[in-house]
Amino acid sequence: MARLVMKFGGTSVADLDRIRNVARHVKREVDAGYDVAVIVSAMSGVTNQLVAWCRDAAALHDAREYDAVVATGEQVTAGLLAIVLEGMGVNARSWQGWQLPILTDNAHASARILDVNGAELIKRFEERKQVAVIAGFQGIHKETGRITTLGRGGSDTSAVAVAAAIKAERCDIYTDVDGVYTTDPRVVPKAHRLDKIAFEEMLELASLGAKVMQVRSVELGMVHNVRIFVRSSFVKPEDIDPRQTPPGTLICDESEIMEQQTVTGIAFSKDEAQISIRRVEDKPGVAAAIFGPLADASINVDMIVQNVSADGATTDLTFTVPSADYERARVTIEKAKETIGFARLDGATDVAKVSVIGIGMRSHAGVAAMAFKALSEKKINIRAITTSEIKFSVLIDAAYTELAVRTLHTLYGLDKG
Ligand code: ADP
Ligand code: ASP
Ligand code: MG
Repeated sequence: MARLVMKFGGTSVADLDRIRNVARHVKREVDAGYDVAVIVSAMSGVTNQLVAWCRDAAALHDAREYDAVVATGEQVTAGLLAIVLEGMGVNARSWQGWQLPILTDNAHASARILDVNGAELIKRFEERKQVAVIAGFQGIHKETGRITTLGRGGSDTSAVAVAAAIKAERCDIYTDVDGVYTTDPRVVPKAHRLDKIAFEEMLELASLGAKVMQVRSVELGMVHNVRIFVRSSFVKPEDIDPRQTPPGTLICDESEIMEQQTVTGIAFSKDEAQISIRRVEDKPGVAAAIFGPLADASINVDMIVQNVSADGATTDLTFTVPSADYERARVTIEKAKETIGFARLDGATDVAKVSVIGIGMRSHAGVAAMAFKALSEKKINIRAITTSEIKFSVLIDAAYTELAVRTLHTLYGLDKG
């Protein structure tokens, strides 16, 4: 029997009515003959509340206890959905991450999945025709037996990992939008839905700010070649015609996409902070003296810009870090001041990174140059630039984020209509 994974995010299970709607979607697929594993998130807002409680309890808390707390949101929805399914006559049971188990490493609060017991699920499909309702976002570290969680948005990753483990025909990601758009449709109403997007492009979109899929879920999908279909849970199950492909976006191998546009999408992130080190000594070993301590402190450095020194003695060096790490990064650099040797540290948190993504950029020159011109015409100053094979990013003042995204969206012909 063909197997299917269906994942429902927070807004899709926000209350009992929505959970009933989810159950009807599940029943629809069971009736169509699929063996179904459902992955659920916590009700929307619940994880935020749990995270806030941990912070309020103690600003510096044990990550193992944080996981014990934040994993509870998914436990509730998994149980509720199983109850509702049973009430509809669908044989179902809930699974916690530790019960299945979903084994992870011990990087609490951002653990990686190491193994999923797909064999147990398959056995139950075969023996009992039982729908598995699995709590997303959580797992267990085998050696210590402690509950882990996969980082915010991690239920997407649970879903793709289960899909790979049971060799599902597809992994349907049901959410509050009906697919992956050229940019966040809540910010740019002219954004249009993509029928297909390549794994690599989705990976860039996700890691550069589009939260529709967690980055690791896309990585996993790419490695295990899982067909991921992003679609809306708000469509009524009764309105779906089983003979037609519903609206949505297939995340698939690049080779499946016939017409490749130069630019596929635009992502943005306001969770950025800029640090500039003024008058750094221009000598070998300086970059290591700066970025070594940051790496030791597990601070992710993203864009790096170093000027060529005018006097041959000193130069300015600018880089970005996640805004959550800004203070820590400043302290780390100040501590290393003697070894590095610099005059002053400047910083800004009111910055944003806007990124343009497209596999077509590999074969087209001048794509970024067009953007620089268009942004300058809107008087948007670029603080830093990075480029790679299929994307480029600019760092700008946060106040101009929406204007920059809209300008570039129009520039690359992505507006709908
Ligand atoms: P869920 O709770 O179902 O996991 P998320 O809130 O994590 O849903 O992700 C869905 C949201 O992602 C959408 O509501 C949308 O605002 C946002 N988003 C950002 N960029 C995009 C994009 N390019 N395409 C679609 N949605 C996007
Ligand atoms: N509930 C978790 C979160 O809000 C995981 C998820 O929804 O994917 O981050
Ligand atoms: Mg999500």
